Amino acid sequence: MSEKFDIPFKSSFVPAVLEPGAKIKFNCHKGISCFNACCKHADIQLTPYDILRLKDNLGISVTDFLKNHTVPFEMDKDGLPGVKLRTDNEGACLFVNEEGCSVYKDRPTACRYYPIGHMAMREAGASDDEARYFLIQEDHCKGHEEGREISVDDYRQEQEVEAYDQINREWLQLMLKKKSAGPTIGRPSDTSLQFFFMCSYDTDRLRRFVLSDSFRASYDMDDAFYETMEKEDLALMQFGVRLLKQVLFGDVTIPVKENAAEKRVEERKEILEMRRKAEAELHQQKQEQQMKDAMS
Ligand code: SF4
Ligand code: SF4
Repeated sequence: MSEKFDIPFKSSFVPAVLEPGAKIKFNCHKGISCFNACCKHADIQLTPYDILRLKDNLGISVTDFLKNHTVPFEMDKDGLPGVKLRTDNEGACLFVNEEGCSVYKDRPTACRYYPIGHMAMREAGASDDEARYFLIQEDHCKGHEEGREISVDDYRQEQEVEAYDQINREWLQLMLKKKSAGPTIGRPSDTSLQFFFMCSYDTDRLRRFVLSDSFRASYDMDDAFYETMEKEDLALMQFGVRLLKQVLFGDVTIPVKENAAEKRVEERKEILEMRRKAEAELHQQKQEQQMKDAMS
């Protein structure tokens, strides 16, 4: 049974929550008259796990994937960075061809779910969030006219979204936390937004950061941790979410080295002192040279 739900009205949404057992009438297959129509007007937001799956499918680095296959956008009014799949000038996904989706086995979460929309909700006072589903009906999509009935749960299984949902869960919870904190948090600094982008999407840069001397000087992690971070993309991505939670939301789960902040201040002082001395020496050398020049 579905209940009424307060979704901002758009003609493509059926504004009613679907329970996991609710049935929808839908089927999509190669012989359908609208085959590929949805992918020719694609507006696909990517999750961190979508990026890993797609870059592996294409056999390229995260850096190249982000550069060549995505466009940045702002997820909210505070400028929280998101990424969408790049399209051609007509709005067609770069992965669609006559046969359908060329990255089908690694297609993004949003493509798997379509025409079911989903979002995480947390009731006032509840400690946990719950998934909510709703139906998206668009005129070009003829799948709704097919005879097949399928429950939301079975559709999710058929599209293999469960693994994606589980892996993205903590990251999605973070979005929810940010959203429910609302204006009390205020607009994050540019540095925080860049940090969010790195931890969420740019795992190549995150890896360089986690393996850097400054990270090692700040966090108390063992050798096995660094070995895993060096080799395993998924573990690195999941650590990125932990790091985000700790640095931006104060949810401390990563051990910090004692006096790390003080040591950093000391190191900074030493660097500044060395720079000051080098500048003083250079200044003295210049003065001596000027005197020599004047006397010659
Ligand atoms: S990734 Fe595949 S399914 Fe998703 S919009 Fe592109 S072509 Fe379509
Ligand atoms: S039925 Fe809908 S989802 Fe399937 S190809 Fe047609 S427009 Fe796309």
